[in-house]
Amino acid sequence: MKLVLLGPPGAGKGTQAKGMAKELKLAHISTGDLLRANVAGGTALGLEAKEYMNKGLLVPDSLVTKMLEERFGMPDIKTGFILDGYPRTINQAKTLDKILSAKKMALDVVFDLDSSEPVIVQRLSGRLVCRKCGALFHKTNMPPKKNMVCDNCSGELYQRDDDKEETIRKRLAVYRQEVAALLDYYKKGNILFTVSADQEAGVVLKKIIEKAGQYR
Ligand code: AMP
Repeated sequence: MKLVLLGPPGAGKGTQAKGMAKELKLAHISTGDLLRANVAGGTALGLEAKEYMNKGLLVPDSLVTKMLEERFGMPDIKTGFILDGYPRTINQAKTLDKILSAKKMALDVVFDLDSSEPVIVQRLSGRLVCRKCGALFHKTNMPPKKNMVCDNCSGELYQRDDDKEETIRKRLAVYRQEVAALLDYYKKGNILFTVSADQEAGVVLKKIIEKAGQYR
């Protein structure tokens, strides 16, 4: 099964992708996570990407495409994958089609997590991430048992640099600018499925899993 998750920052792509990866036994590929790993590791790519990420801007395609091609070269994607955070532009959608067709693969379904701005800002401004295992928490919606400590691995929780209100609004503006063309592209391809992501995470996951079941 080859899936893409679209949606504005804060729609719950990360949470849903982690749930889907577990339920459907698929590789979870998050370009945001891959970029943050490069930033944390101080790689040349990370150093360059960081400037864009901290401003809420898209990292240039020349950097992201190479990183994605490398990830697609790994064996775990053969059994299927969920792409989270890519594509974000029509250009990236076309690049993805090329990468996949070179591997004789094609997308089965693209999930669009539709979410409203007040919900997004509330979710992102309270989001906490584990430095060690990447688990997601929320200051009020899903607080960890111990303050700023991960329930799963006891790692330290932190707030992402780009989860500050001003940057959130910039990221949303960037998203909205690109998304209409992207949705249109997948609608024409007849593979777009929209889910309201303002609902509770478990309800959203159930709907996605039900739909994904058709592609097993
Ligand atoms: P995310 O974790 O998906 O919210 O991504 C965090 C940041 O990483 C974004 O605001 C961008 O700066 C960068 N990023 C992630 N995915 C992409 C992509 N497909 N193209 C360009 N930049 C990206």
